[in-house]
Amino acid sequence: MENYLAELNDAQRAPVLQKDGAMIVIAGAGSGKTRVLTYRIAYLMSQGVDPFNILSLTFTNKAAREMKHRISSIVGSSEAKNLWMGTFHSIFAKILRMEADKLGYPSNFTIYDTQDSQRLISAIIKEMSLDKDVYKYKQVYSRISSYKNSLITVKAYFQNGELQEADAMAKRPRLGEIYQNYVERCFKAGAMDFDDLLLKTNELLNRFPDVLQKYQNRFRYILVDEYQDTNHSQYLIVRALSDKFQNICVVGDDAQSIYAFRGANINNILNFQKDYDNVEMYRLEQNYRSTKNIVEAANSIIDKNKTKLDKVVWTANDDGPKIVVNRLLNDGEEGRFVASSIFENKMEHQLQNGDFAILYRTNAQSRAMEDALRKKDIPYRIYGGLSFYQRKEIKDVLAYLRLLINPNDEEALKRIINFPARGIGATTMDKLVLAANHYKRSIFEVIENIDRIDLKINGGTKAKLKNFSNMIKSFAVMAQQQDAFVVAETVAKKTGLLQELKKDGTPEGVARIENIEELLNGIQDFVDGQKELADANGTLAEFLEDVALMTDLDQETPDEDRVALMTIHLAKGLEFPYVYIVGLEEDLFPSGMSMNTRSELEEERRLFYVALTRAEKQAYLTYVQSRFRWGKLIDAEPSRFIDEIDDQFLDYMIPQDDYKYKPLIDNDIFGEVDKSKFRQNKPQKGTPPPAHKPTQSELQKLRRLRPVDAPSVAKTNTNLVQLEVGQEVDHMRFGKGKVLSIEGVGQDKKAEIDFENGGMRKLLLRFAKLKVL
Ligand code: ATP
Ligand code: MG
Repeated sequence: MENYLAELNDAQRAPVLQKDGAMIVIAGAGSGKTRVLTYRIAYLMSQGVDPFNILSLTFTNKAAREMKHRISSIVGSSEAKNLWMGTFHSIFAKILRMEADKLGYPSNFTIYDTQDSQRLISAIIKEMSLDKDVYKYKQVYSRISSYKNSLITVKAYFQNGELQEADAMAKRPRLGEIYQNYVERCFKAGAMDFDDLLLKTNELLNRFPDVLQKYQNRFRYILVDEYQDTNHSQYLIVRALSDKFQNICVVGDDAQSIYAFRGANINNILNFQKDYDNVEMYRLEQNYRSTKNIVEAANSIIDKNKTKLDKVVWTANDDGPKIVVNRLLNDGEEGRFVASSIFENKMEHQLQNGDFAILYRTNAQSRAMEDALRKKDIPYRIYGGLSFYQRKEIKDVLAYLRLLINPNDEEALKRIINFPARGIGATTMDKLVLAANHYKRSIFEVIENIDRIDLKINGGTKAKLKNFSNMIKSFAVMAQQQDAFVVAETVAKKTGLLQELKKDGTPEGVARIENIEELLNGIQDFVDGQKELADANGTLAEFLEDVALMTDLDQETPDEDRVALMTIHLAKGLEFPYVYIVGLEEDLFPSGMSMNTRSELEEERRLFYVALTRAEKQAYLTYVQSRFRWGKLIDAEPSRFIDEIDDQFLDYMIPQDDYKYKPLIDNDIFGEVDKSKFRQNKPQKGTPPPAHKPTQSELQKLRRLRPVDAPSVAKTNTNLVQLEVGQEVDHMRFGKGKVLSIEGVGQDKKAEIDFENGGMRKLLLRFAKLKVL
């Protein structure tokens, strides 16, 4: 075992070495909270604690995998595999499967994703003949979700006059009924939604003292990362499980609490000391992640929040460059600036794509970034958009797989009973749903008994229904004997799904077939991986659970070198050398929907704090003068958050002949930035950029730029093609220099040059502002 404790500072070592008892580590970003958790687990294992007795809850499954990996390398054995480590949802889904019968669920229960839940709610609203404009299914879903996360069951709802009144005031007096129907339908379908995984765990631990004891004894040591973002339901689970031994270590940062809108409760941090006996409170102050400029700028922002715990964050790292602020004309230019800047930084500092992240407030902002990155051939990956597993063809295959594991899964059945088309139409479906509701059975059970009930379905259709149920049952038999890959491949072929796509013949159809192939490959990988583990066999049920609980960040293919694009919410806990925070405009960030109260605004500010503290070496902030929103071009105002950063940490690069509409030509965009053209002062506080009302023709130009038909890759800097080793050159910014070597050909030709002012640099010749002397 390496001397891993030497890789901690004194403050970090203290909570690692305190083996027993309750402890809370409250500390700012980048101060090593996650590292403390990781090393603490390694330490516990070195002290003889069995990894089966350690439960560690992380924000993503990916974080859990990385931690396990690190722990394995510290303890030098594969024992870390036995740790209980993962997100709340994935850990408790596992436990619920083992205990499902106690709650009346089958152990093969389905996990409904958000889309499944919303579809079901939408169907219920329709069946109840309610006005779908009043009962908006997404709103109803989030309302039900928040009830569940506050442990308000249907019964509790109907006992609570205030809640009912509130929904009635919101013109949704029948929300309780929808809630009740939804819960019954999920139960009948043998399905739990995401919130159920927590709610049912609470139910399990409350109702069955023996079960509670069993898991209290199993999880003698409990650790929780990102504690500030646990919701009430999660908090209660942790409290119940740790109640007996009270060996609990939670780490968090109140300044990074960004999920209040989803029920996260900051009081969980504040109350921790009351919940346990003899709580040790630890503080970490040294940030190891970021430069001084970034750390201090972040401090200056979070200082503006009134509701916060007092904390010190400092760093011994270099000052680093200042935070660059740039204003662009529109989102197209914003994208091009970011892409060029990434390109330049890559060349100048010899970096990988994976060293860069672009963070934004809303998913919609990714489009302009993507367009610009594509134009520059920079590979990127979007996290949290429409993920692979949300694509139609993938969901179709998965629906078959889900159904053969759990034939009662109503959403899966509805999705594919007539896809590919097999003559089971909407009228038949309506009859089946009615009968299922009437008999309180699942649709599949109704189909199986179709000869015994009179649904006025003709003989031909009945035969089709029977064929369908026989097909599903034959797959189910197969799943008992074969691994997930074999089953999935058979399903894709035998159901006619692949055939259907082949018939399609369009490029989209081909792409869909490729996606299904990718899914099958993924299943094969999964099977291979699972077979190595002692307690898994690579069954289909295991695979489906893995997919259902995959978070957006879990889908990374590790060997791909790509720029990361994601919302700030998703970036929590991560770090990147270079971070671009885009769209820093009033109404967008802070969000127009979150500025009504001080607490909402403070949450937006914490979000900005999270964004900035992801950066290790350099941060860029951008905003635009006008942005298309809700289909209209509106004048944007720089975000107050830029104003709130102390000036000394910022470096403004705002063109002098600003605000006039003048699309920059390629070489200006892609070439190095000539700072002499930029003034160093910031816009006057409170004054928006001088209003330049675009003329009609400018507007048209802007609109044409929208789907980005901006100029493609910059033209080759032809006069440099002849350049040779040993030649003297002059560069706009770096001054005179001598060519040391040349590599690459054509568009990729680079020269390594020793500059008088700029030192050694590698420049891509097609963009380099060089003169041969
Ligand atoms: P966040 O609040 O963003 O989740 P955190 O407090 O969890 O941050 P970590 O991610 O654990 O911080 O650490 C930040 C970075 O600093 C990581 O790259 C980590 O490896 C490094 N680090 C932490 N402690 C030390 C140390 N004692 N020596 C060297 N590097 C360290
Ligand atoms: Mg962390």
